[in-house]
Amino acid sequence: MVKNKFLNTLTISFFFILFYTFSQIFYTKNLNFNDDLQIIIGEESKLNAIWVGSKYLDKNIPILILAGHADSQGMAGAGTPGEAVDKFGLNPMDPAISDELFWNLKLQESIVKIGKKKGLNIRSYDPRIRNIDDANDPRTNWSVGKKFVKDGGYAMEIHFDAYGKYGVGSGLIPPFFEMPNKIDESLARKFGRYPVLFRGGLGAPRRQIRILEIGKLEGSLEKNLRNLKTRQRTINLISIEIVKAFLSGII
Ligand SMILES: [Zn+2]
Repeated sequence: MVKNKFLNTLTISFFFILFYTFSQIFYTKNLNFNDDLQIIIGEESKLNAIWVGSKYLDKNIPILILAGHADSQGMAGAGTPGEAVDKFGLNPMDPAISDELFWNLKLQESIVKIGKKKGLNIRSYDPRIRNIDDANDPRTNWSVGKKFVKDGGYAMEIHFDAYGKYGVGSGLIPPFFEMPNKIDESLARKFGRYPVLFRGGLGAPRRQIRILEIGKLEGSLEKNLRNLKTRQRTINLISIEIVKAFLSGII
């Protein structure tokens, strides 16, 4: 009788521990929003990057969001057409521009809108001229971004990476001549990290403009963007995560 009672207690304890462990795993998994973001944006950069950003920025710092390739829809540098168009032959979202720019513009608008609501000193710039040959023309993304940073702001150009083996994945490319800060760090923790010297230092980072690769334009990310039922939710979710990163980098 005593032995049975002991066994019962042992069994109950065993099941309780089992239940507790599983509920913890389940609970933590559901609480970890980064996991969800990762599922939506796909794989992140696995390149070897060791930089860390630790300096908080002033809460009123002006933030500028640029849409990658907004001024370069010529033959070179138009941005990725995406897997749907390039591999599966679907129609482009807008025949006048690359699918990457189409989504960059949508994200740009959404990040600024949500950021303003959350009290950020945030704005966008769109050159509107879709092909400016000279990168140093004062109307390009890079010229406007460079001046913005020089005047004490934080400028970021958003991109989607090429699909499959042509792309690297999501992540932040830090500025070339400046120490990364806490906003860079927060973005890198959510999206991944590119090395400072990525491709020898690209045009934007050389002008202290950060590049955020949101994800490869492929698979479920691209499907969720193209599907009208999930489009807005996907854009919102990514924008909210970016705005949250800004908020956790300012003080
Ligand atoms: Zn791009």
